[in-house]
Amino acid sequence: MWIRLENEADASVVAAQLQGMGLWTRALEDASGCTTGFAVEPFSAAIDWQRLDQLDGVAEVQRPRSAHPRVDAQMGQEVVVGSVYFGAQNEPVLIAGPCAIESAEQVEAIAAVVAQAGAKVLRGGAYKPRSSPYSFSGHGQMALAWMRQAADRHGLAVVTEVMSEAEVDGVSAVADMLQIGSRNMQNFALLRSVGQRHKPVLLKRGVAATVEEWLLAGEHLLEAGASGVVFCERGISGFDPHTRNLLDLGAVALLTTAYKLPVVVDPSHAVGRRDLIPSLAQASLAVGANGLMIETHVDSSKALSDGAQALSPDTLSMLGFAQ
Ligand code: PEP
Ligand code: MN
Repeated sequence: MWIRLENEADASVVAAQLQGMGLWTRALEDASGCTTGFAVEPFSAAIDWQRLDQLDGVAEVQRPRSAHPRVDAQMGQEVVVGSVYFGAQNEPVLIAGPCAIESAEQVEAIAAVVAQAGAKVLRGGAYKPRSSPYSFSGHGQMALAWMRQAADRHGLAVVTEVMSEAEVDGVSAVADMLQIGSRNMQNFALLRSVGQRHKPVLLKRGVAATVEEWLLAGEHLLEAGASGVVFCERGISGFDPHTRNLLDLGAVALLTTAYKLPVVVDPSHAVGRRDLIPSLAQASLAVGANGLMIETHVDSSKALSDGAQALSPDTLSMLGFAQ
């Protein structure tokens, strides 16, 4: 942001006032060394733009234009997924389910558990991104049908990942909310194709994505036509292998508190171990998360993926969402 001074202004008086408001500024000088304005550092204290405009000696305040106007316009708005509402003043939403949809029986059993625990949305991968090409990568379209039937039987909405443009038709025919996985956050062709379905999207943060890159990915979706974007923090890459990833609750607080955007936290993929998930779930809600995404399994020792981070049905129901 830039402040332009009036010709007669006393720059030192204006500078002192800006400093008094907690702003970090750098003087802008003309060729003769005369201060004509100030650049204000972006991470200064929260800025009341209108007050700056009214200071004696200030001719004009120029704010940089946001690179993500559609995301900005979503501020304070709720994102609607069927009869479920994310963000604004709505209660936090529990999204739960297995890492992968393994069979019709597995998803039926877990859907019952998830509904009992107070979840409103069933999660589960039909198309699974796996680090190794030899790992189980999902049952595809068949799994989507099993998932839809189980969700309908238990009054749940469905969110599931779409990994490639080729899958967008099949997934959007079944899911209430489309999930963009962490590895695809900057797959712009996929974002465009998903956005064109005019559905709500759960946008996971890339493991090395800045908040700005994450918001810009949301802008791609909204620009293409998505009906709303819920941002999902699922841990970024850290340097310490003790936990799977590093849960960035600072970014969650920033998005929920300063930007008023709907955010869901996925502590399962963030830490990768079930014993830490309940406390991180609480911490996420404490910083204003509008929902949680939690992996669960009826028998995690037999899970085909991410068993170590799957909560038992009992622990899931102790998260505080059960009626
Ligand atoms: C998932 O939620 O199934 C998943 C693969 O998560 P992420 O994209 O965050 O790794
Ligand atoms: Mn998983």
